[in-house]
Amino acid sequence: MLQLYVPLNFLGVIYREIKQSLADMERLFAVLDEGREIADADDAKPLVIHNSPQINFSHVDFSYESKRQILFDVDFTITAGTTTAVVGHSGSGKSTLSRLLFRFYDINDGCITIAGQDIRDITQASLRQAIGIVPQDTVLFNDSIEYNIAYGKPGASKEEIIAVAKAAHIHDFIVSLPDGYASMVGERGLKLSGGEKQRVAIARTLLKNPALLIFDEATSALDSKSEQAIQSQLKEIAKNRTTLVIAHRLSTIADAEQILVLDHGRIIERGTHTQLLVADGAYAQMWARQQAHPEELEKNLPSSASP
Ligand code: ADP
Ligand code: MG
Repeated sequence: MLQLYVPLNFLGVIYREIKQSLADMERLFAVLDEGREIADADDAKPLVIHNSPQINFSHVDFSYESKRQILFDVDFTITAGTTTAVVGHSGSGKSTLSRLLFRFYDINDGCITIAGQDIRDITQASLRQAIGIVPQDTVLFNDSIEYNIAYGKPGASKEEIIAVAKAAHIHDFIVSLPDGYASMVGERGLKLSGGEKQRVAIARTLLKNPALLIFDEATSALDSKSEQAIQSQLKEIAKNRTTLVIAHRLSTIADAEQILVLDHGRIIERGTHTQLLVADGAYAQMWARQQAHPEELEKNLPSSASP
């Protein structure tokens, strides 16, 4: 009886664990918009990078569904160790760029390379290991806050976890909780605010220490004061790292080495902040509008800036 009881109980625990992790994976995939399975090439090799690599999108055409093309001849280079920002109204294809860099989808035409290697020729595991993302909506697992940070680097020590939590300005908040780092978060635990979740995502990314970074409107869930605090941290992480920033508030990307303006899936302008203001086109209009109506940003980016 005792012999039977133990394994059954054990199976019960495993079953609950599996069910739980499947639920978590489902959520994660839903958020990542992972529609279909992409297979590694038969002779796929791990990505080889030494420092922060250069990223190149070369004449990229892409559609999720055959009927509707989303990106048209998208062509740009992010020089090693620099920041490129992408701006444009909602639906213009900004997040799609980050999904393509992760190779959640294959492109219809053109080529995407990291350090000169076509991402279709490298293993997806090595690709995803090289990229850290602070997304628009951070997924928290139904687990402890410690687990949620350590997820960036399985097997990280407690010291490492505390160090990145401090760097992401979330440590003081965590230790103020009754259960500290063991506090349960997620759907069935403590509900964190948008800003707190983003700090967890930043801590996770710091721990992962990736060669490439993507910030997808990473501070859009925050009020402008918290946003400023987090922005300065993001800039710190991005220093000397190849970074793609999808920006909401233009003032946060004014010092990017390159700004791309995406409109209905096409790059319609590119340059530095100063060059784009001088050009007096779509970017300059968006900038003027955000300066005049900062309150609009709390809701959304102004709709298409094209005349
Ligand atoms: P942005 O980040 O600039 O707001 P997205 O890159 O998310 O825009 O989306 C660009 C376009 O692609 C939008 O019209 C959106 O509706 C469409 N889209 C996004 N994800 C999918 C998907 N999984 N299947 C079909 N269409 C999609
Ligand atoms: Mg988006």
